Amino acid sequence: MNLIAIAGRAVLDTLLPPNCLACDAPVDADGQFCLTCFRAANFISSPFCAQCGVPLPFGDATGFCTACAHAPPLFHAARAALRYDALTKRLILPFKYADRTEFARGIAVLMARAGAALLASADALVPVPLHQARLRQRGYNQSVLLGAELARRTGVPLLRDALARVKPTAPLGGLGLEARQAALAGAIIMRPGRDLEINHKNLLLIDDVMTSGATANACAAALLNAGAARVDVLTAARVADPRYE
Ligand SMILES: [Zn+2]
Ligand SMILES: [Zn+2]
Repeated sequence: MNLIAIAGRAVLDTLLPPNCLACDAPVDADGQFCLTCFRAANFISSPFCAQCGVPLPFGDATGFCTACAHAPPLFHAARAALRYDALTKRLILPFKYADRTEFARGIAVLMARAGAALLASADALVPVPLHQARLRQRGYNQSVLLGAELARRTGVPLLRDALARVKPTAPLGGLGLEARQAALAGAIIMRPGRDLEINHKNLLLIDDVMTSGATANACAAALLNAGAARVDVLTAARVADPRYE
């Protein structure tokens, strides 16, 4: 989308009443669902894995999923606002692939609610990086847009390009966790010269969707290697584990 179109849409956004996040129904404020979509939305609530945040069928929010119990990820805790289902895709897919960048504001409202505790203890926000080729093709990094909105709402600073994706990875869909980890090996690094911003800091990774957690784990590895004290993860949506459904 060109700059004039973006500016035009921004003007329209301020003139028109806000729409539901998932349909065209008018709502009172940004980041809200209309009543119908609210009833259909799958907000993630307890019980979920205390570490990776995957919804669990039973137990309380202090239990771990089997994956975290056997091989805990490097990040400390991951939380997400919504399950990645058909309704959530109506927000995420246009936001990520069809230039609907104005959705960032509403999605960030949901993320701020789900990640309040993580945001409160974060020294800085770190968006999951896109490879340069993907960024050029898409025109924006959706994680940076979400991070910028969260920074604006909370005052937690955004380290916009602390991480870099130096190896293009084919879409990871359909791959298991181990294959995803292998595909990501060496793909994400800290940009040189960022040590001071990262050393001894509690960092909160920001992304749109968490699937297996392999990408979040690769980012956490790069940040922890660079001296981060702790890495948490906040995403808009989370793919539920079919084994727990
Ligand atoms: Zn709606
Ligand atoms: Zn887990």
